Order: sequence, then structure tokens, then C-alpha cells
Amino acid sequence: MSSSKFIVEVEQRSDYVIPRMCNCCLMETNGFEEICAERDVSGIAFLRCTLKIPLCKECEKHGKASKKYDIPFALLGLLSFPIIGYAIVLEKLFLLSIIPIIVVLIVYFRLRFERKLRKQGHSAPEKTVALKILKNNVIRFIFKNEEYAKAFAKMNKDKIKDIYKI
Ligand SMILES: [Zn+2]
Ligand SMILES: [Zn+2]
Repeated sequence: MSSSKFIVEVEQRSDYVIPRMCNCCLMETNGFEEICAERDVSGIAFLRCTLKIPLCKECEKHGKASKKYDIPFALLGLLSFPIIGYAIVLEKLFLLSIIPIIVVLIVYFRLRFERKLRKQGHSAPEKTVALKILKNNVIRFIFKNEEYAKAFAKMNKDKIKDIYKI
């Protein structure tokens, strides 16, 4: 949704120092998530699993829970054509108002879920770190937690190309 992203671009190397705390809630943890870097080479998408970033059990759980909000959207996408067709054929155009009402409800529940997580100190409901391989052997780390991004940047000072927020 409207959360900021913290970008750290570094040289492509194999010796990154990874802060030893959950990348979402910053708690100490032994858990981790495997991050895949993606690069597009002449139209073919490459996936390379390269890094393990700490992620605690609780944050793994809410990451999975956040996905359940995609299901009603997908269902609505599938059902909207029959609903529209039915409404037009039967001249019951009021049925069309069902679609925006459902969208508003889904968005409302998702925002409520997000707000609850933020109150508990989480930085984002879904996956929190992403990697992208850029040209000239530069790797872009995309963080959702500003403090985690800063800690990472500090520990990898010697490899940094750029830091910014979007
Ligand atoms: Zn956590
Ligand atoms: Zn979390």
C-alpha cells in the first residue's frame, strides 16, 4: 500500500554483512527467509537464490496471512464478468453496485490488518526484503524497514553505490 521503501545499492559481492535481527520487527531471531535475486537476461527471467535474511516466526506468519487478501480480489475478478452479464441481461443494473462494495470491504479489512501490524512494530504485512540484479554488477536491496536498511548500509559501507528512499 502506501509504505515507503528503502533502497541500498551495492556492488555484487559474496561477502555482505547481514544484520542479525528480524528484518521486519527487529527482534532477535534464528529464523530467516531466502531471498531470490531476479534479473532479466534478453527476455528470459533468471531466478537465483542468493541470500538468507533473518525473519522471525511471527513475521513469517503475518507474511503468509497477508496473502489471503489476494484471494477475494482474484475471485472478484473472475466473478465480475458473470455479475455484469447477469445484471445487463436481466436489466437489474443495481447488481453492478455489488462489485465496488466488495472492493471497499476487502480494502477495509486489509487496511485494518496492516494498521494492527504496524501498532505491534512490524514494518510491512508482506515480504519485507527484495533483491534485484542491475547492470554493471550492482545489486539493489529493497527494504521496508528503515532501521534495518540503515543497519545494513552501515555494515556494508565499503560496497555501497547508492542509498535512497522511494
Ligand atoms: Zn519479526
Ligand atoms: Zn513483522
